[in-house]
Amino acid sequence: MVAVLDHVGNASSVHRFGRSSRQVLETARADCLASLGANSHRLAFTSGATEGLATCLRPGVQHLAAKTTITELIISPTEHVAALEGHGFSPDRVRTLPVDGAGRVDVATLKAMLENTPNPAKTMVCVQAANNETGVLQPVDDLAGLCREHGALMVSDCVQMAGRLPLPDILPDVMVISGHKVGGPTGIGAILFDPIRVHIPNPLLRGGGQERGVRAGTENVAGAVGLAAALKDACADLDQEAQRLAGLRDGFEAALKARMPEVVIFGERAPRLPNTSSFAVPGKEAALALMQLDLAGVALSSGSACSSGKVSESHVLKAMGVAPDLARCALRASFGFASTDHDAERLLEAVSSLKALA
Ligand code: PLP
Repeated sequence: MVAVLDHVGNASSVHRFGRSSRQVLETARADCLASLGANSHRLAFTSGATEGLATCLRPGVQHLAAKTTITELIISPTEHVAALEGHGFSPDRVRTLPVDGAGRVDVATLKAMLENTPNPAKTMVCVQAANNETGVLQPVDDLAGLCREHGALMVSDCVQMAGRLPLPDILPDVMVISGHKVGGPTGIGAILFDPIRVHIPNPLLRGGGQERGVRAGTENVAGAVGLAAALKDACADLDQEAQRLAGLRDGFEAALKARMPEVVIFGERAPRLPNTSSFAVPGKEAALALMQLDLAGVALSSGSACSSGKVSESHVLKAMGVAPDLARCALRASFGFASTDHDAERLLEAVSSLKALA
C-alpha cells in the first residue's frame, strides 16, 4: 500500500500511468473477491461501509432475477446506525423485524412477513452478518435462502464478519465490508453484489461513472490495495486465528465472572464472533468506566454506538430488551490479531479493579 502511494496515475486515465494504476486497482479487486470466496459477486470500492450501505439500501435498486424494482425494506433493529439511519426508504415503506433476547432474527418470522407481503420481489431484506456491539451472529444462510425462495433481495452488512469468519455459504445478493475492521486502512470499503440478480441504477455518488457506475469519484487505489492486503492476511488463517481469539475472549469472560459473579455478558449463549465480548458490571456506568480504563491503558468501547466521542443509549441492547440501567453499564472488548494473553490479563485486571473505584 505504501508503495502504491507513489503511483501518480488516475486509474481512469488512458495514459500509461493511469493504466498502471488501473492494473493495480483491478488486481486488488480480484484479490478481495478471492480472499472472501465471493467470486460470484462483483466488487465496487467505496469510502467505507457507511457509504456502501447508503448506496445499496435505496428504493429503485433493480432486482434483475425478478425483473422488478425494489420499493420496500425489511430491516432488523440491531443493524448499525449507518443502515438504520442511512437507508433511503420513506418510513411507510420500512418494516422492522423482531429480534430475541440475544438480538437474533427469527427465520420463521421473516418467512411469515414475506408470505404476507403482496410482492416480495419488490422487497429488500437487510440483516447484518454479525453485530458490532455484541458480536452476535445472525442466521444469514437461512435468511438468504429464505429470501431466494420468496424472491426477495437480501442485503447483509458483513463488516464484522469479513476477515473473522468465513462468509455465509449462501452469499447474500449484496454485501458491504469496511477496511478498518479487517486491519486495513480507514476510508476504504466495498460493496459486493451478485451481477446476475442486482443492478444499482441510482447510486449515491454520481458523476464520472467509475466503479462500473456504482460509485463515482477518482478511485482510492492505495486504499484498495490496503484493503486487499489486509483481507489476504486475515483470511489466510481464518480458522486458526478465530480459535485463538475465541480462547482469549472465553478465558477473559470466564475469569471475569469468577471474580465478579454479578457481571452480565450480552449474547453469551448465542453464536458470536470469536473476538467480541460485550458485558456490563452492574452499577459501573460505561461513560466513567471508559475513562478509568483508558487511564489504566486499556482501550475499550461502550456497548453503545460511540459516535463523536459521546456515549449514547444502545439501540442494540434496547432491542434485546436489556434494562436501561444495565445497558448504561455496557462495555465492549474487541480482541484483534495483535492481542495476546498478556493483553487479556491486563484487561481482566483493569475491569476487575473498576469495582474498587467509586
Ligand atoms: N457496519 C458495521 C457493523 C460497523 O461495525 C461499522 C463501523 O463501525 C459500519 C457499518 C460503518 O463502517 P465505516 O466506518 O466503514 O463507514
